[in-house]
Amino acid sequence: MTRTAANHAADKEPTGAATGKLTYRFGDGSAEGDASMRDLLGGKGAGLHEMSRLGVPVPPGFTLTTDVCTSFYAQERRYPDGFEEQIRESLNWVEQIVGATFGDATNPLLLSVRSGAQVSMPGMMDTVLNLGLNDATVEGLATRSGDPRFAYDSYRRFVAMYSDVVLGVKRDDDLSADPFEELLEAKKESRGVELDTELDAGALKELVGEYKAEVRRQLGTGCPDDPWHQLVTAIGAVFESWETPRAIIYRNMNGYDHAWGTACNVQSMVFGNLGDDCATGVCFTRDPKTGARGIFGEYLINAQGEDVVAGVRTPSPIATAARLEGDPPSMEESQGETYRKLLDACTRLEQHFTDMQDIEFTVQQGKLWILQTRTGKRTGPAMVKIASDLVDEKMIDERAAILRQDPEQISELLHPVFDDGPARNVIAKGLAASPGAAVGRVVFSADEATAAMEQGQKVILVRIETSPEDISGMVATQGILTARGGMTSHAAVVARGWGKCCVSDCSSIAIDYAKGEFKASAADGNVVTVKRGDTISIDGSTGDVMLGVMPTVEPVLPPEFERLMAWADEARTLKVRTNADTPEDAAKARAFGAEGIGLTRTEHMFFGEDRILAVRQMILSGSEAGRREALAKVLPIQRGDFEGIFRAMDGFPVTIRLLDPPLHEFLPHKPAEQKEVATALGVSLEDVERRVESLAEFNPMLGHRGVRLAITYPEIYEVQARAILEAALNVTAEGRTVIPEIMVPLVATPSELEAVLGQILAVAEAVFAEMGTRVDYTIGTMIELPRTCVTADRIAEQADFFSFGTNDLTQTTFGLSRDDAGRFLPSYLDQNVLEKDPFVELDREGVGALVKIGVEKGRATRPDLKVGICGEHGGGSVVGGVLPRGGLQLRVVLAVSGADRAAGCGTGSVAVDRWLSRAPTRSRISFATPRGWGRA
Ligand code: ADP
Ligand code: MG
Ligand code: MG
Repeated sequence: MTRTAANHAADKEPTGAATGKLTYRFGDGSAEGDASMRDLLGGKGAGLHEMSRLGVPVPPGFTLTTDVCTSFYAQERRYPDGFEEQIRESLNWVEQIVGATFGDATNPLLLSVRSGAQVSMPGMMDTVLNLGLNDATVEGLATRSGDPRFAYDSYRRFVAMYSDVVLGVKRDDDLSADPFEELLEAKKESRGVELDTELDAGALKELVGEYKAEVRRQLGTGCPDDPWHQLVTAIGAVFESWETPRAIIYRNMNGYDHAWGTACNVQSMVFGNLGDDCATGVCFTRDPKTGARGIFGEYLINAQGEDVVAGVRTPSPIATAARLEGDPPSMEESQGETYRKLLDACTRLEQHFTDMQDIEFTVQQGKLWILQTRTGKRTGPAMVKIASDLVDEKMIDERAAILRQDPEQISELLHPVFDDGPARNVIAKGLAASPGAAVGRVVFSADEATAAMEQGQKVILVRIETSPEDISGMVATQGILTARGGMTSHAAVVARGWGKCCVSDCSSIAIDYAKGEFKASAADGNVVTVKRGDTISIDGSTGDVMLGVMPTVEPVLPPEFERLMAWADEARTLKVRTNADTPEDAAKARAFGAEGIGLTRTEHMFFGEDRILAVRQMILSGSEAGRREALAKVLPIQRGDFEGIFRAMDGFPVTIRLLDPPLHEFLPHKPAEQKEVATALGVSLEDVERRVESLAEFNPMLGHRGVRLAITYPEIYEVQARAILEAALNVTAEGRTVIPEIMVPLVATPSELEAVLGQILAVAEAVFAEMGTRVDYTIGTMIELPRTCVTADRIAEQADFFSFGTNDLTQTTFGLSRDDAGRFLPSYLDQNVLEKDPFVELDREGVGALVKIGVEKGRATRPDLKVGICGEHGGGSVVGGVLPRGGLQLRVVLAVSGADRAAGCGTGSVAVDRWLSRAPTRSRISFATPRGWGRA
C-alpha cells in the first residue's frame, strides 16, 4: 500500500520533518491550544483544550500534533527531533498537576493514549487506556486506592487494549469472538457470576495472567512492562491506526483527505471503575435521532469508557424519561447529584459550541470528568429540528441554521418509510437506533455483506455487535441489526452518521454465526428461525424486525423543514431549477420547489413508442425531403410534449436542449429488431444494416452529435424549434406564461452557433407569421468544450445564456471518457493520483478554472449574461467548490431529489453567479440561475 500521508507530507516541505513545538498541554483550567486548532490538534484534542480553557473538568494531558504524525510517515516512521524530550517535559507537567509519577511503583500515574483526527472518525482509530501498569505499579495502585479489585480490573483492561492496539492480537476472523472477551466470559462462568463487576481482585489477577499467556501464545512475546516503552509504542500505534484499512475506507467514503494525519492525546487517567460511585458514559445534549430537546445517553456504573460503546454490558439511560421497562435505574435516579453536574456541563458546552454536542464522560468517586466533546452526528430529521430549535433558543441565527444543513442528509428526509397499513409480522423488537426502512437478505459478517453487494444483492447485516473492523461490510448493507449495544453503540453511531437504518440491542434474537441463523423468540413464546439468505425488513424508527418484505411509502416532511426552506428562500440569491423530460417530472419537481427547468433533454422524447419509427425513418432516409417527411410526423408529438411541460411550468422558465446524441443511438442494433424496422418502414434489411454501419463511430462522444447534427441536417433543429415555439404560443393562448429557452449543445466555435441561430430565427419568424402572434424566447448554448470556455467572449455575442455542461466539459478537459473511466479511475483514487472522481465532484483546478474563464469572458461581452451549471454526476456531489455554500442548496437538493425520484435521473446544476466563493460544498444540485433570469 502506498503511504499517502507520507507522500503528502513530503509535498509540504522538503524534509517532511516536523520541527519546533510538538506537544500542546491542557488541563487545570488552562490550555496551550483551543477549539480553532483542529487541524493541528485534531478534533478531540482541540475540544479538550477548549474545555480546559472553559474550566470544564478535563484530566490534564498533552496533545502531539498532526504534524508529528505526518512527519512520522514522511520520515519512514521515525519521530522528529525533540520528540522524546518534549514528551518527558510535558509528562512532568502532568505529573505535578496530578501528584503522581509515571512508572512509580508506589504512586503511579496512569495514562490514556488517544487518537483524534481533525474530523471525527468514530471508532476508526485506536486508544489505549490505563497505560503505565505492570506487576509492580499495579500493586502501588492497589495500595494507594485501597482497592485491589480496581487495580487488577484496570490492569487486565490495559493488557487487553495494549495487546490489541499495539501488538495486534485480534480475534481469529470475522465470525469468532475476541480472545480476551472469551477469557473474561470463561472466568465469569467459572466463578459463577454474571457481570464483570462481580469478579473479585483474585479473579481479575488470574485474568491478567491468562491474557498475558494468550498474547504469548499468539506472538511468542509478552506485553511489555516498561512504562516508557509502553507509552512510545502506544503513540506509534495511534499514528499507525491512521492507515488501517478501515480508517482508509472510512476516509474514502466521507471524502476526507489521507494527508491530514491524526493527532495523539496523552492524558492522565480518571477512573470510572473505582466502585459504585463511579461510572462512565456517553451522551448527546439532544436526541440525535429526532432532535428532541433533553439529554440523551447511556452510562454504566463501575466501568470504563469502552464498555458503554462496545456493548459489553447493556448500559442504562442517563435520563429517567428515556428509561424503558426492565432497564436498570437511570443516572438521574441513582446518581442524582452527578446527573445535575452533567446536565450543567451539557448546557455549558452546547451554549459554548452553539450546537448539539456528543459528550464522553467519566465519574470518579462522585466527581464528573468530561473526556470528549464534539458536534454530534445526527439523522436528517434531527438536523432539521435542532437547527430550527437553536434559532428559537437564540443560540444561532437563521442564516447559520441554513448553513448547517447537509444537503445529503436532507435527502434522508425523503427516504421511504414502511407503510403503516399492512399488518406487520414482527418477530423481534430492538432499539430504534437509526431511522429508515430496510429490506434485505440476512448476512452475518462484513465479508458476506461485501460479497453480496458485489453481486447486486440487498442485505441486512445481523451481528451480535459491530466493531470498527466491520466498517467495510456495513457500508454494503441496507440496514444493520445487532443483538447487543445501545443507542450509542458502534453500530448505532455509524449507521446514524451514514443515514443508514439500524436496529440495535435486539436482545430477543439469538445469533448463531456457525450455523448461519438466528432465532427470534416472540413475547408469546413462539420461536422463529431466520437463516442466512432469508429476507427480513427492519424499521429503524420503531425497532421492529419483521419477516419478509414490507411495503414502503413516501415520508411526511417535518414542519421544521418547511421553516428552514422559507428562511433559505429569503437568504439565497440563486434560483434553482430541475432537470425534467416529461410533464409529470416537471410537476413533481415544481412541487419540491424547483423554479424552472434547467435541462429538458429532447432525445428521451425521441424514443417514445409513438415516434421512434418516424425518428428512425428520418435517420434512414437518404434525402432531405425524406427526412422532412419523417420529421413532419414527429413534430406534432414533440409539440405535445412541450405543451405539457410548459403547462406544468406555468410562469417558470424551461430550458430545452436541442438534439444532442449521435443518430446511431436511435437505430436498433440487434438483427431481429433491425428486421422489424425494415419491415415497418418498407425498406430492406440491408439498408438498415448499412445505415447502422455507416453511422458507427470510433469515438461517438467526440463524433457527429450536438450542433454538428444541425450543420449537416438543419431540418432536425428547425423542426424542434418549430415544435417548441408552436407549443409556447398554444400554451400562452391558454392564458399561461411560457418562458422558453432554446439551448444548443456542444458548440465549439462562434460560427457554429451563428449558423444554427440563423436556422432558428428563420423558423421563429415563420411560426410567428403563421400564427399571427409572438412569444418571447431566448437562445443560448451549452458550454461543454474547453475551446468554448476560452472563446466565451465571442460565443456570448450570439448567446443569450450559457449553461456549463460539466459532464462533457469534464470528459473533454481530461480527455477522459466517462463511460470507460470506471475501468481505471479506481486505481487513480486508490493510489491518490486523483483525490476525487472528477465525474462525482467537479475538478476545481482544471474544469473549474475553465468555467471561471468562460464566465468572465462571457460577461465581458454581455454583462447581464445568464449563467448556470448543469451536470449529471449520477448521485454524487456535482459542483463541489465552485458554488457558494448557502441556503440555496436546500432548495436545490430538494428539486433534484424530487426530480431524481420522479425521473430516476441523478442530476445537477447550479448557477455560477457567485461561484467565486471559496467554500467547498458537497451538495448535488440542480439548475439554478441568478434572480430574474428569464423574461418574466
Ligand atoms: P474514541 O475516539 O474511540 O472514542 P477515546 O480516545 O475517546 O476513543 O477513548 C474512548 C473512551 O476511553 C472514552 O470515551 C473514555 O471513556 C475512555 N477514556 C479515554 N481517555 C480517558 C481518560 N483519560 N480517563 C478515563 N477514561 C478515558
Ligand atoms: Mg471518544
Ligand atoms: Mg453534454
